[in-house]
Amino acid sequence: MSDQTLNSWEARADANSFYGFTDLPTIKERGTTVLTHGKGAYVYDVHGREFLDANSGLWNMVAGFDHPGLIAAAKAQYDRFPGYHAFFGRMSDQTVMLSEKLVEVSPFARGKVFYTNSGSEANDTMVKMLWFLGGAEGKPQRRKILTRTNGYHGVTAVSASMTGKPYNSVFGLPLDGFIHLSCPHYWRFGKDGETETQFTARMAAELEETILREGADTIAGFFAEPVMGAGGVIPPSAGYFQAVQPILKKYGIPLIADEVITGFGRTGATWGCQTYDFIPDAIISSKNLTAGFFPMGAVILGPELTDRLQAAADAIEEFPHGFTASGHPVGCAIALKAIDVVMNEGLAENVRTLTPLFEEGLKRLSEKKNIGEWRGKGLMGALEAVADKDTKRPFDGSLSVSERIANACTDQGLICRPLGQAVVLCPPFIFTPSDMDKMFDRLEKALDGVF
Ligand code: PLP
Repeated sequence: MSDQTLNSWEARADANSFYGFTDLPTIKERGTTVLTHGKGAYVYDVHGREFLDANSGLWNMVAGFDHPGLIAAAKAQYDRFPGYHAFFGRMSDQTVMLSEKLVEVSPFARGKVFYTNSGSEANDTMVKMLWFLGGAEGKPQRRKILTRTNGYHGVTAVSASMTGKPYNSVFGLPLDGFIHLSCPHYWRFGKDGETETQFTARMAAELEETILREGADTIAGFFAEPVMGAGGVIPPSAGYFQAVQPILKKYGIPLIADEVITGFGRTGATWGCQTYDFIPDAIISSKNLTAGFFPMGAVILGPELTDRLQAAADAIEEFPHGFTASGHPVGCAIALKAIDVVMNEGLAENVRTLTPLFEEGLKRLSEKKNIGEWRGKGLMGALEAVADKDTKRPFDGSLSVSERIANACTDQGLICRPLGQAVVLCPPFIFTPSDMDKMFDRLEKALDGVF
């Protein structure tokens, strides 16, 4: 039985909730922030404290926390049909309409959509689809999955295996057959004297060597975020996708763009792949898909994978996969509205308008003594802390420097995300120039307090 006699929200949170992705020493020292509501880009805690959320919740609340149109869309669909039939020959009208819309706004001439409840499940589903294809096409050995170090693809056993972060070793992951290529971060991993073009060529050569070493016939797919998000906002080195895609095509390996963060406007175009000028074989979507108002993910298949998967499913008369709430009509109604809000109510445009201001602020703060690099694309950006600017030596210490900066930001009324040695900013698309000023002012105060 839970202990309801504890006398603070913070203590009650600690007593009954097992925290994930949370720095536990920070919580012990500072307590949990218990939130009650949000307004625009701001959230409020049980003590009435206000925070400017420069991380859009978890990269997803792009239309803010109280968008009336999204709330109305949710309420209307709850009134009309909150239950669902996802399978066995039934589907809601909202799901039909959302699939039409997603194919229409995708970079594909045609395609098909499969729904999940999260980005992790969408990646997991895509891997299962590729494995399913291997079996159906007489290549059951085609199971290996290529991803990149520092790539983030989720937390299920499969999507965590795809994720290229060392912390997953505590779970005994990755599973066999998940291969992590190098992270295409030129500033951090470029060799002395190596140009960015040479660096990109090295990344591409590594891909081809890996394919030849492992055997092209054993590889089911290559997954990449157009801009790495949870790896610390890492845009690819110049020409990266133009260098790797022809190699993947040469060996018949599908390129899957994980657009869970970059989809729906974050990088300035509808899709990150459009920002970086390539068309993948499938897109993984979530987060912005519902502007964070409903847990939902989607696999959007391009034409070739649509045809191959449909043929494989037709051959056994079923694709035996799906989640209870796949294509939930409330989620679909919200997603339809969210796409409309982002694309037709000026939010995507606002990303493009604010980007120069955002970059200017990042650039300005990167001149500080302990900031080694600013980087970003559209409205996702990061400042990388370094102990020594010339050698790029990272800080050491048990509480990471970015954690200290993020805590100092919290004290200033700003939510931003510590990731490795970087502080990440990912503001909602409804930000105003004045929110932008406020964000950089508060961040600057926090930085000056820490360094
Ligand atoms: N893929 C990317 C690129 C992500 O950033 C995330 C989450 O941050 C995921 C997948 C996993 O999504 P979810 O947390 O909804 O499972």
